[in-house]
Amino acid sequence: MILHRHMAGTLYVVATPIGNLEDVTQRALRVLRTVEIIACEDTRHTRKLLAHYGIEKPTISYHEHNERERAEQIADRIAAGEQVALVADAGTPAISDPGYRLVRECLERGLKVVPVPGPAAFVAALVASGLPTDRFFFGGFLPAKKNARRAALAEARTIAATLIFYEAPHRLAASLADAHAILGERQAAVARELTKIHEEIVRGRLSELAERFNSAPVRGEIVLVIDRTEIAEDEHVAREDQLPRLAERVAQLEADGADFRAALKRAARELGIPRDEAYRMLAAERDEHRAESHPKRHRTE
Ligand code: SAM
Repeated sequence: MILHRHMAGTLYVVATPIGNLEDVTQRALRVLRTVEIIACEDTRHTRKLLAHYGIEKPTISYHEHNERERAEQIADRIAAGEQVALVADAGTPAISDPGYRLVRECLERGLKVVPVPGPAAFVAALVASGLPTDRFFFGGFLPAKKNARRAALAEARTIAATLIFYEAPHRLAASLADAHAILGERQAAVARELTKIHEEIVRGRLSELAERFNSAPVRGEIVLVIDRTEIAEDEHVAREDQLPRLAERVAQLEADGADFRAALKRAARELGIPRDEAYRMLAAERDEHRAESHPKRHRTE
């Protein structure tokens, strides 16, 4: 068992608003008032929040570019007895934001870490999406590059849970189109500018949303929420059983000189599998194959 050193301080992981400044807890304000120092991503940004609540505290920057050395320095201060609050620019620190490294550093040294919960954009988006909340998968930011994004979506394809991703506005239409191509038709919601003046939650099928945001691009901060697969489980299993025949037939047609698209189209037609579904089946299989031959590096955060 790790004993907390008697004189050591505490790291408070404090959630702050994701837009509306009223969304801050009494406890968060009390902690921010009582700690010795506040570690934040952008000191100017956090000072605005502190000024709004009349809090005057020293701040220290802790962001993705200085995380490693700052985590050690901040943990040193906590070990020496200081109380430190960690905040992000918005929402909960360590959720698609820096924080994980500092939490680990403190825990490895036997220092106390206390969460002060509050807003997180993905929770707000999920509960207002109208999609099932019983089980969900939070995938963080979708990769910016098309191939990596499609691979991430293919990985999430069979997860029996509502899928949640963060997305940048200029990639929204492309991501919705990729989601439709890889995941098939599903209900989804685009939650934009939550808790802010231009808050908007658009619900619909992936194809409709892709079309809408392609013809009318938007700005702002965005969470994408997507329903779990609509294919009935037995239908899904039946389709998966066809995978070896599909893969074999595509390989055969490719060997005969057809390009991948033509081979896929023809093999799907011959086997009576919708073309989108055939594409997804093969994409998932090729990803699995790639993952087996190149095991992923262990992610540390
Ligand atoms: N730590 C934050 C949290 O707890 O949600 C997430 C920070 S991450 C760097 C920023 C992303 O979160 C944005 O690009 C957007 O996808 C999502 N986000 C943050 N605030 C949002 C808001 N008000 N409305 C919609 N999405 C938001």
